[in-house]
Amino acid sequence: MLNIAIDGPSGAGKSTISKMLAKKLGIIYLDTGAMYRAVALYVSRKGVDVNDREKVIPLLDEIQIEFRGDGDEKKIYLNGEDVSAAIREHAVSKMASDVSKIKEVRLFLVEQQRAIAKKNDVVLDGRDITSFVLPDSKYKFFLTATPEERAKRRYEELKAKGSQISYETILADVNDRDYNDTHRDFAPLVQTDDAVFIDSTNLSTDEVIEVILRYVNTH
Ligand code: C5P
Repeated sequence: MLNIAIDGPSGAGKSTISKMLAKKLGIIYLDTGAMYRAVALYVSRKGVDVNDREKVIPLLDEIQIEFRGDGDEKKIYLNGEDVSAAIREHAVSKMASDVSKIKEVRLFLVEQQRAIAKKNDVVLDGRDITSFVLPDSKYKFFLTATPEERAKRRYEELKAKGSQISYETILADVNDRDYNDTHRDFAPLVQTDDAVFIDSTNLSTDEVIEVILRYVNTH
């Protein structure tokens, strides 16, 4: 199976790039961050603190996550409900980052991610794909950009959607999530030696895709 693993910090453009890349290659795209977001959403709707490990773990048995639909229209379903919009709310980002520190949450989702990768040609993006989910994948990329550039991109994206949130708030949030993601005990975000490093600070989306495609086509 063709498995392309892409890791990197929040706002590096992973999901946009992965989605377009998958489309170009005619394969599926698996947004693993959306799965952590769906878990966070479920836990918070139950009134449970996402940091409360003892209460979060039993809830995993009640969670069923599915992706349905084709190509760009792919939606994420939580126990049969389309939560594609709900998981993108600002508050869910931090909760996803917190809930993802729990080892059992990670193993619950990683098992599903590996099963999908085993059966399908897929582009997966996340924080631990190159290092933990699919360490033996032939195609591993680490995509990043400066925190300021990543915050600027997210700010512009949210502003276009009518959000009033300030650039400073978003930058603080980006730094917060970077810290969380790189400092957790289990499967933190790391740049593996064998992943191709791409700094997208001064690259367009098309340029990043070109770099990845060139690598895939020549290796
Ligand atoms: O990529 P996205 O921002 O949607 O991910 C939400 C959160 O889920 C991240 O901040 C990160 O903490 C967590 N995550 C993770 N491992 C992944 C994907 C996402 O820990 N493979």
